[in-house]
Amino acid sequence: PLADISQATNNFDEKLMIGSGGFGKVYKATLYGKKVAVKRGGEDHGQGRPEFVTEIMVLSQIRHRHLVSLHGYCDENSEMILVYEFMEKGTLQDHLYGDKDHPKLSWERRLEICISAARGLHYLHTGSEGGIIHRDVKSTNILLNEKYVAKVADFGISRLDNVDVDVDEGEMSYVKGSFGYLDPEYVRCMKLTQKSDVYSFGVVLLEVLCARPALDHSRPSKEVNLAGWAIKQIKNGNVQRIIDPFIVDTINPDSLRKFVEIVEKCLKDTGDERPSMVDVLWDLEYVLKFQS
Ligand code: ADP
Repeated sequence: PLADISQATNNFDEKLMIGSGGFGKVYKATLYGKKVAVKRGGEDHGQGRPEFVTEIMVLSQIRHRHLVSLHGYCDENSEMILVYEFMEKGTLQDHLYGDKDHPKLSWERRLEICISAARGLHYLHTGSEGGIIHRDVKSTNILLNEKYVAKVADFGISRLDNVDVDVDEGEMSYVKGSFGYLDPEYVRCMKLTQKSDVYSFGVVLLEVLCARPALDHSRPSKEVNLAGWAIKQIKNGNVQRIIDPFIVDTINPDSLRKFVEIVEKCLKDTGDERPSMVDVLWDLEYVLKFQS
């Protein structure tokens, strides 16, 4: 209920802030004795409003074990507040680089996380409501709960093909998403499809294998993109050299070969050449079977 959500978010304590993003700040709070994450948008209804509405439209229609769930929202007194299940272990990206609160993960665990995220995205693409393109698949939008179960988050710029949403004026003329993850076909000719999510997911798979950022300005100028750089290394037979040293000795060669094949398919230049999310999911399950 809105009253309870407002109550939960009344006393924002900066010490309880767990992050901030494009939409606003994220806090840890308690609602009905359960830990929740509260996202609080700007106080005016201009900036962030379309993202707020889209997030609610998507998450109120669909529920899935591998999509982060929205417990409620508040849209009163010119405040935009979203209340989510609390994802104790933070983002997948945090764990790729590792620190004292976010230990690095084994190859098996990384594969399990990729499989879960793929399940969530497959459901988004084809589930009961179907036809939703996430549009911002990246390692910071894959969250982990206390058992390291992965859930896809952040549906603010998703495109819903099944609902008549007010598309903002510039929608068709500028690219939305995150640099380093953008489908080249979408950038070239504004062709946005579910295969655009598959491309971005391919970049996430590379991040998981290499523990390197999707965009890295420390590399020579033409190789800023992880996708471009890694595919070149793979083609030149340097796969071993691009793997995160933390896991390199634990990866079964058959599992690695298959994983790299999936990445290459996801990162094909055109959507038609890329697999669907369900194919990616099945292939990843196969990789995990090889590994364990
Ligand atoms: P962005 O707009 O950059 O994607 P968000 O506003 O979605 O960022 O989230 C900012 C940060 O807050 C995330 O990187 C994550 O650390 C944290 N966060 C977001 N949602 C949750 C959640 N449900 N549970 C725990 N932490 C969260």
